[in-house]
Amino acid sequence: MKALVLTGIEQMEIQDIPDEPLKDNEVKIEMKYAGICGTDKHLFNGLPGSAKAEPPIILGHENSGVITELGPKVKSNLKVGDRVSIDPNISCGFCSFCHDNKPHLCENMEAIGVTRNGGMAEYVNVPETNVYKIPDHLSFKEAAMAEPVSCMLHAINQIDIKSHYTALVVGDGLLGQLFVKYLTNHGIKKVDVSNRNPKKVNLLKKIGATTVFNPEETEHHEKYDIVIECVGVTKTQERAIASARRGGQVLMFGVGAPENVIQINPYDIFFNELTIKGAFINPHSMNEAIHVLSNKSLAVDELITHEFSLEQVPDFLSGKIKEKITKAVINLEA
Ligand SMILES: [Zn+2]
Ligand SMILES: [Zn+2]
Repeated sequence: MKALVLTGIEQMEIQDIPDEPLKDNEVKIEMKYAGICGTDKHLFNGLPGSAKAEPPIILGHENSGVITELGPKVKSNLKVGDRVSIDPNISCGFCSFCHDNKPHLCENMEAIGVTRNGGMAEYVNVPETNVYKIPDHLSFKEAAMAEPVSCMLHAINQIDIKSHYTALVVGDGLLGQLFVKYLTNHGIKKVDVSNRNPKKVNLLKKIGATTVFNPEETEHHEKYDIVIECVGVTKTQERAIASARRGGQVLMFGVGAPENVIQINPYDIFFNELTIKGAFINPHSMNEAIHVLSNKSLAVDELITHEFSLEQVPDFLSGKIKEKITKAVINLEA
């Protein structure tokens, strides 16, 4: 099969590799769409994502496709021909976190497209436990977004949301945009966005943002009940905490470099009774993600800005494609 293989740091090539045989409880999926995410850039550059990728490996953890083969001991009701989306994260089931219903914190986590071969290929083998059927009317392109949407939904579950709250989303990438949509859908009276790209202001307002401002250019002293950091650099992380109102909640969602540290004033956390929370990947949220994509309450079509072939991906990940890209997907049907 044709596959895009990460062969080393900043090295990727299209290879013709043998089809991997299915293990007992796996299904083979003919890939239709794979999303490319910030994590893929980190992995391409030799940095860890949710885990470390060891080359040679096929990336791609935001996947949709059609089942073409079932392993000999598949017990679920999956069938050849089913249209599906894939949860990339495979927890062990036996560590203390798995036993405590926190599979995303599993000590033995494997991830499709990170620690084992993923969807930037013609086919991918997936444990049946990680396969989700999708409705006929949901496109493969949208279904490939179930994983990022599921991460967003898990993050939302970490905070207390009330309609009279105000919210600030820090960052205007796909996930920032998804948070804006979700919060405005849920009647939050005011959702502001801090961003730096003036070209995105119109879209952000169209999808529900109240005020969009560039904190590098305008003084903005407003404080918020909810602040969601979606960039992952120290400056925006510090700014996110400073933007929380007394009693406010700050969600650290953006993936930063592991060695980064920020300055926090503990007295402010005490005096203002701030809550600062993390949200890691997507436990138990794929069903809801597929539902909100299917009923269009979280339409993602308008947020996907680019569609690439497998061959174009290395140029994108290495920064040779200079256009401003919010979200790119790989069309593997073509
Ligand atoms: Zn991702
Ligand atoms: Zn575990």
